[in-house]
Amino acid sequence: MSFKSLGLSEALLKAVAKKGYTKPSPIQEQAIPPIIDGRDVLASAQTGTGKTASFTLPLLHYISENPKKKIRPIRALILTPTRELAAQVYANVKDYSAFLDLKSAVIFGGVNQRPQIAALRSGVDVLVATPGRLLDLHGQKAVSLKRVEIFVLDEADRMLDMGFLKAIESVINLTPNRRQNLLFSATYSKEIKRLAHTILKEPIQIDVTPENSTVKAIAQMVYRVAKSKKTALVIKLINDGNWHQVLVFTRTKHGANRLAKSMANSQISASAIHGNKSQNARTKALKDFKSGKIRVLVATDIAARGLDIPLLPHVVNFELPNIPEDYVHRIGRTGRAGAQGEALSLVCTEELDYLKSIEKLIDLKLSKTIIEGFEPQPDEATTPPKQGQNRNRRHRNAPSNNVKKHSKSNNNQRSKRRRNTSN
Ligand code: AMP
Repeated sequence: MSFKSLGLSEALLKAVAKKGYTKPSPIQEQAIPPIIDGRDVLASAQTGTGKTASFTLPLLHYISENPKKKIRPIRALILTPTRELAAQVYANVKDYSAFLDLKSAVIFGGVNQRPQIAALRSGVDVLVATPGRLLDLHGQKAVSLKRVEIFVLDEADRMLDMGFLKAIESVINLTPNRRQNLLFSATYSKEIKRLAHTILKEPIQIDVTPENSTVKAIAQMVYRVAKSKKTALVIKLINDGNWHQVLVFTRTKHGANRLAKSMANSQISASAIHGNKSQNARTKALKDFKSGKIRVLVATDIAARGLDIPLLPHVVNFELPNIPEDYVHRIGRTGRAGAQGEALSLVCTEELDYLKSIEKLIDLKLSKTIIEGFEPQPDEATTPPKQGQNRNRRHRNAPSNNVKKHSKSNNNQRSKRRRNTSN
């Protein structure tokens, strides 16, 4: 399939070619046509799948093909959980709209608001924003969302993890009732389903995560190991491989602390991030990790989800997650279109059931290695470990009742679904 066959305009095809993309990724193939059709979309896709282009390209297509005369109200609003993501999405919007007569802006907290207000005053078609600063500027009457036609919630699960539910609701209340809604989330928790149900109208559901080719492109390896030897093994792997940026997942907060301490005792600089650490401590640990000040970041699943962790060459599952979908999230932190990443899992006998569930979900038998001196013990427990903090969390559930599978809608339906199409 080509980008052209998805129905994108020449100006967008040119921008896509300039970026060097030769063909659409699976999420782009599935999301672009219905979004151009004006449908609401609920998409499950993680970073690295090309999700940003999957909503940005069709929204730019729609706005540029249906121009407003003279005035420039904000017609598309993209809400992201973090500043880093807002900046990244904005960079994409700029790149893809290079050959269009459209204006875009990004607003987020922590920086001087004056240039943002000035940009808004000069007229903006597409706004990328984090919720806090957006509401703040709205309070100052510096921004109006009354003419928004397309509303995108990016990384909705992370938004909820970061406590933005109320802020999202407030932002939505500032937009017209008739709008196209696009909700992107890496997982479908109960909360996400509830949110999707309140925001989306007859959405098309797109799910590319488990059978995603990116996941299969990541080199995945299992080390069968004695439970008591896991710490020594991960230290050996880091030292032997001379790895400098490793994200290690544990199932519990205490496990994360213990492991970070053991690493430090072995002269490997490490920090732990988990739910008991303040946002400031987490942000600092992440900053040190990104800058190379520390080599290892030990994280629990929930903590990792609230942070903008870059894609890395090495991800280690010190313990397997008891929710198979979490494995997909974890390893999604490594590798990216083109770049190979490596995901290693240290698996002791009691985790074999978890491993089976994961292999079933990803539809892949993972290759298993045993390193001399670290062999699993024959007398080790075979029952799954005690519940970790994450156990009663999200499952990739069946979509809610109002979710429909993708079907092509015609142009009449499109114009009915669109809201403020008049100039
Ligand atoms: P995202 O999932 O949106 O964070 O995108 C992940 C990376 O893939 C970004 O660096 C994009 O520039 C890149 N990308 C997006 N779409 C494509 C494509 N069709 N072909 C190649 N790379 C792409």
